[in-house]
Order: sequence, then C-alpha cells, then structure tokens
Amino acid sequence: MTKPIRIPVDTGTPEGVNSAYHFPDRGVIVDPGPPTETAWTALTEAIRPALSSVEHVLVTHWHSDHAGLACRLAEAADATLHMHSSDAPLVGEYAAARQRRLDRDVATLRRWGVPKPRREALINSDSPSPMPETYPITAHEDGETVAGLEFVHTPGHTLGHSSFAIDDTLLLGDLLLPTYTPNVGGSDTRTDDPLATYLSSIDRVNARFDEGEPGHGTTMDVTRAVDEVRTHHRERALAAFHALSTVADSTSWMVARNLFGEMRGIHAKFGAGEAAAHLDRLAALDVVERTDEESIRYRPRVADYPSDLNLTP
Ligand SMILES: [Zn+2]
Ligand SMILES: [Zn+2]
Repeated sequence: MTKPIRIPVDTGTPEGVNSAYHFPDRGVIVDPGPPTETAWTALTEAIRPALSSVEHVLVTHWHSDHAGLACRLAEAADATLHMHSSDAPLVGEYAAARQRRLDRDVATLRRWGVPKPRREALINSDSPSPMPETYPITAHEDGETVAGLEFVHTPGHTLGHSSFAIDDTLLLGDLLLPTYTPNVGGSDTRTDDPLATYLSSIDRVNARFDEGEPGHGTTMDVTRAVDEVRTHHRERALAAFHALSTVADSTSWMVARNLFGEMRGIHAKFGAGEAAAHLDRLAALDVVERTDEESIRYRPRVADYPSDLNLTP
C-alpha cells in the first residue's frame, strides 16, 4: 500500500488550502501548489531530505493553484514534469496558451450572454501567473504511468484533468472536494457538454475507489461525495429548468442571475458557466431547446420536468 504525505500549501482559490502530495520513496510530488512564496516555503520545507530527491512532478490540471509551482519545482529539483496531453500545453506553453484561453473566454462569455462590462472586467482581472513562457512537459494519455502512478483521465472540471492512482490510493485533484462542489462549465471553456463529461468521470472513479485524496483538504469518502455531487447537479438542473419556465428565451447569464443572484468577480464566469453546463445537458436530453446559437438562448421543450430524468449520458 502506497500512501502519500499530504503537504498543506497556500490558499489559491475559494476552494480552500491546497494539498500537495509527496511520495518520498518514489521521488514524486503531485500538485505542488499556487505560485506564491508562502506556498513555495511550505512545500520545500516539507520535502526532506532535499529538493534533489524529487524526480517527477505530476499535475492534475492546468489551474494555477495546482500547477503554479510545477515548473519552479521541476527546475529547482532537476525533475521531469508530467500532465495529461489536453492540459499540458496550458502550462508548457503558458504565455501563448493564456492568450488563446483569454480569446476563447471572451467569445464564450459573449455566447453565454454575459454583459459587455462584466466580460471586460473578467478579462482585465485575469492577471498572469509568475510562470515561464514555455517549459518542457511530458504529455500523457489515460492509463500511462510515471513512477508507478497511473493517469486516470477524469475530464469535466478541465478538459485534461487527470486523477492519479497507485494501489488503492487515488489523488483526486479538483474532481471531488470536501467543502465545495467543483465548478463545471466555467473552469475550462474548451469542453462540449462538460456536465456529462464530469458525471462520467466521477462514476469512473466511484467504480474503482472507496477513498480519495483531494487537491484541497483531506481524505474523502468517494461514494458519499459522488452521491452528494449527483444530488447537487440534479437539483441545479431542475432549478435551471424552472428559471427558464419563468422567463423563456433566457441566456445562461440570465439563468445564472436567477440561480445565484449577484456574482462578484470570477464568480460571474463560474456562475454563467455552471448554468450553461446544466442547460446544455438538458438540451442534449431534449428537455430544453436552444433558440439562438449566436448569443445562446434556451426555452423549455416540455411542460413538466421529467421526474425520473437521469443526467448521465
Ligand atoms: Zn481547478
Ligand atoms: Zn483547485
């Protein structure tokens, strides 16, 4: 049985304190943490006996609270850096990929119906992380292993999100979180039908593992977390449908305002994305229809929400 040492590092997001994981006997660090000096100090002080004992840095997904220190650690330890192929370019070609991401986000926010001043505020507040413009990363596919840790591709929160499995230990990244429902839809604008993708991913790990180590916080009961997250998404899909029933031909933004009220800062993107993810899932199930593809609007397709609706594809 291989159990990692959990290293609490800095808080990078509303999700809470990040957990880096250290496998000293394998020379592996997973998700070194956000790109701050506080996190760097916490991380390096916890790695014994020396930084050079780290041979491989593995990262679950491109978000800076997980990947922010990856290049710095790999460089300092002369270690190799590994990610799933769909997320690797967002870290390995950071400067160019960030610009592509911002361009894509602007277009997506417009399609979601987010008003122009809010779109501009979101893009202007997206400050670059202190990361190299480019850095060599080894890209992996599902099932490949590094130092015995298996890539378990679990997309949804991001397109290339990967969990890591070894024996009965599963490192979850942001697939499941103890105090927070991982954002789906706003946290990576590259995924079609992100809710379907995400639900398939949690089913996949639930079939294999009882426990998991999250990217924020401590050990979780996977079955219970999957049940809670499924209930949450069922309720949210129903609420999105009801929001459409009061104002037909709504955009995702209008539905998000109905569901979440005032959304400050980055929550405007997370909220609109979350609404869009649920509306697109309901559209795929023929419960709602999309009425305008430019600035996407939705209306109910059925009078009553199907009580036995299964969101999973
Ligand atoms: Zn994340
Ligand atoms: Zn996170």
